[in-house]
Amino acid sequence: MSIDTAQKKMQEEVEKRRTFAIISHPDAGKTTLTEKLLLFGGAIRLAGTVKGRKASKHATSDWMEIEKQRGISVTSSVMQFDYEGHRVNILDTPGHQDFSEDTYRTLTAADSAVMLIDSAKGVEEQTKKLFQVCRKRGIPIFTFINKLDREGRNPFDLLEELEQVLGIRSYPMNWPIGSGKQFRGVYDRAQTQVELFQGDDHKEIQVQKVSGYQDDLVKEIAGEYYYDQLIQDLELLDVAGDAFDFDKVRGGELTPVFFGSAVNSFGVQTFLENFLKLAPAPTPRRSSEGEIDPSNQKFSGYIFKIQANMNPAHRDRIAFLRICSGKFERGMSVKHVRVGKDIKLAQPQQFLAQDRDIVEEAYPGDIIGLFDPGIFRIGDSLSQGGKVEFDELPTFSPELFSKVTVKNALKHKQFQKGVDQLTEEGTIQVFKTVGFEDMILGVVGQLQFEVFEHRMRAEYGVEVQLQRMNYQFARWLVEDKEKIDPGKFRINSQLVKDKKDNYVVLFESEYAMRSAIEKNPTAKFLETAP
Ligand code: GDP
Repeated sequence: MSIDTAQKKMQEEVEKRRTFAIISHPDAGKTTLTEKLLLFGGAIRLAGTVKGRKASKHATSDWMEIEKQRGISVTSSVMQFDYEGHRVNILDTPGHQDFSEDTYRTLTAADSAVMLIDSAKGVEEQTKKLFQVCRKRGIPIFTFINKLDREGRNPFDLLEELEQVLGIRSYPMNWPIGSGKQFRGVYDRAQTQVELFQGDDHKEIQVQKVSGYQDDLVKEIAGEYYYDQLIQDLELLDVAGDAFDFDKVRGGELTPVFFGSAVNSFGVQTFLENFLKLAPAPTPRRSSEGEIDPSNQKFSGYIFKIQANMNPAHRDRIAFLRICSGKFERGMSVKHVRVGKDIKLAQPQQFLAQDRDIVEEAYPGDIIGLFDPGIFRIGDSLSQGGKVEFDELPTFSPELFSKVTVKNALKHKQFQKGVDQLTEEGTIQVFKTVGFEDMILGVVGQLQFEVFEHRMRAEYGVEVQLQRMNYQFARWLVEDKEKIDPGKFRINSQLVKDKKDNYVVLFESEYAMRSAIEKNPTAKFLETAP
């Protein structure tokens, strides 16, 4: 291939990709929506694998003992499908008790996010947390308000909540006609058409083109009662609502909102089509060498997640790599930047629902799983173009803390080895108390403790004892050395050190944290390591 043809092909491949994550609170319908999206991809094989999900909802990733015991998926996986010339990558973000730093980190590998909201519940806790991570990255966010077939909250209230709680303005792309038992469908504002709700998973959406919302046909469909309401609502939106602004959508300041019902496949296709039009293809990524454009011919990517024990028979690990530029080809050699060595990417895997295929080639926006004999860390960059390092992975402030001790003191060496390894993988964060050197683990989700306990036992043969502590916040203390005094943090707080000997204060409450900030005006209290 000539350079020009190669470049053109590269651009086309980049342009057709959409890589996103669904952010939501458990039960909003993420699994259902994902399933429906995969079905639109037309992959029969996928349809077959996702069908029996009620019985084995999370069976796709029950690689770890602990997952099997609890019937949940510990770590995010990646799904891919094609739709009308696009290649779509969905990154799964585990929720519930299996919420962990992995969930946050996965978001760094996405170019946009779909925020799924239960119309009866509005913005919930986990959605808020995940939203904030997306917001910090400035990625576009698309909103799907689900379960319109049930009695839900007033749509204006929901939009108001997006603005009040999340601080994002919204633009409804469509608007519900009726709700709950009387849900008739939606009015599509841009295409001036009515989409009729039929319930029961009808694949064919009934669409009626109309001249505008004043059209008699709309009146007929909506019925007198809902028609008046609909007209009022839409007029209000036209007059007082935000205008559609593509740049604001791309900048993550305005979220296009879609109403629908995932379980009935209602509104999902319209959503998908609009999403594919409005969401960005892989964008340039920040690195030590400046911005790296995805269509740059030289391959580069970074590891955002490491998953252990994919196969219990082996102690293998899989490192998930997000491709940032260039074409990936099986067997290619790349530089492992941190280590400064060339490595061969021989057995890469792609994750398609529960099948793991060997991937021959992949492009920016794609995620590949690399077999990891223990050479990778979270945040590692691989590159063909010299020392490119991506600066994508934020660390997160832990919110749950436990003191950890070894039951058998003779196992101390293995214990230390395990702790070092698991910290490196990003499974946990470790702190030590000043003076006594007691070890404290910090995590963002309870499951991380359980994974830690399990893996210490299974992989290092060490029984550990975890004792939950009351702390809720960790703040990195930046202050002149001579002013740092553990005595200042005795009440409802404690001074500890992180792995790199940075000082960190743990607080039991927001109140304790605020009063420490007031009493130490020259100090800085940072959410993550400086
Ligand atoms: P997840 O926890 O976010 O993955 O949620 P699921 O996809 O498992 O859905 C949670 C529950 O909501 C399930 O019982 C779904 O059948 C149900 N559900 C999903 N979408 C809809 C919808 O549009 N309408 C109604 N009534 N129920 C829905």
